[in-house]
Amino acid sequence: MGELANCPNCGELFVKGSQDVCRKCFKEEEEKFDRVYNFIRKKKNRMATMNEVSEGTDVEKSLIQKWLRQKRIHAGSFPNLTYGCERCGEQIYEGKLCENCADQLKTDISQDERQKTIAELEQEKRDRQQVYFNVDQENKWRN
Ligand SMILES: [Zn+2]
Ligand SMILES: [Zn+2]
Repeated sequence: MGELANCPNCGELFVKGSQDVCRKCFKEEEEKFDRVYNFIRKKKNRMATMNEVSEGTDVEKSLIQKWLRQKRIHAGSFPNLTYGCERCGEQIYEGKLCENCADQLKTDISQDERQKTIAELEQEKRDRQQVYFNVDQENKWRN
């Protein structure tokens, strides 16, 4: 079952399912996709840049970028259809981040994990102290 959400495009309430926009916008997006796809399929447009495709089809660059990210448009076949890395804006062909940022992010994540481990160790120490405390209490009762 889908949940109710506001369409990020037009703000209309819709049931969020396999699509991330409302039915009306989805239909519009599909029409735009066809337009873009028919455009880049033409041999003379194979080398078109993002700007040229956007202008030639009257479709927002952000949409074309979305399809590239979703791999609905295969960037490999259209070498000039690049888009900006989400972090630094460097032109990339696939994924969300350029190689540099992806590496950087990996380092950040392992740092997070290290911090988590320290927090977990502290928690374990506290748990152990708790156990000792309980044992002491029991001994007192026994005596
Ligand atoms: Zn909408
Ligand atoms: Zn980057």
